[in-house]
Amino acid sequence: MNSISVNLTTIRQRIASTCARVGKDPSRVQLVAVSKTKPAALVMDALEAGQIIFGENRIQEARDKVPTVNDARAQWHLIGPLQRNKVKYAVKLFHMIHSVDSIALAEALNKRYTQADPLSVLIQVNIGGETQKHGVAPDQAQSLIRAMADMKNLAVKGLMTVPPYHPDQEQIRPYFRDLAQLAEDLKRLELPSVSMDELSMGMSHDFETAVEEGATLVRVGSAIFGNRG
Ligand SMILES: *Cc1c(COP(=O)(O)O)cnc(C)c1O
Repeated sequence: MNSISVNLTTIRQRIASTCARVGKDPSRVQLVAVSKTKPAALVMDALEAGQIIFGENRIQEARDKVPTVNDARAQWHLIGPLQRNKVKYAVKLFHMIHSVDSIALAEALNKRYTQADPLSVLIQVNIGGETQKHGVAPDQAQSLIRAMADMKNLAVKGLMTVPPYHPDQEQIRPYFRDLAQLAEDLKRLELPSVSMDELSMGMSHDFETAVEEGATLVRVGSAIFGNRG
């Protein structure tokens, strides 16, 4: 076994034991293997080890890597910011967009996306209110999804966040909890084409805490593919 398949097995086991510890269904937690900056060959290794979902954060890199990997099993998720002039590429490359944080971006995606089934999107929330981070403010999320409710090419599946970094996971836990609570509040609005079933949160250093707090998509990069140079 190569190191990627060993790492994937370890991460999957850690997710499973976290779920067992807190009484959650492990099938409700999907692993997004964040392959940004890593070559297509490593994505292919991960595919051979049974990994399906890959996270990329730059359109140009994905435009190179997706056709190089060229494997119908792979599902690509955009986890980084999306500029409106790149939307025309994004709608062709990605199965899910985790980073919708404005009405203008949602409108552009809705306009450019042409397939029959709606495009799955998550609303990125700046849960820690950090000035340098992307995402809508928590109190703006409701008006954004209300504006998106009649965008028929988009299906809002839930929320995504990148909380403030802290070496102690217990300091990060309240942010995960806040995102889960916000999703609960928004779900109660029962807006058309808004489901709030997915919570994208947790990375290499904090995914177990995120799973404990309800993550359904954990985005793990360096713990699978090694540190980025
Ligand atoms: C890079 C990145 C990750 C993965 O980070 P690791 O610490 O390598 O696991 C997750 N989410 C986002 C939004 C990222 O940009």
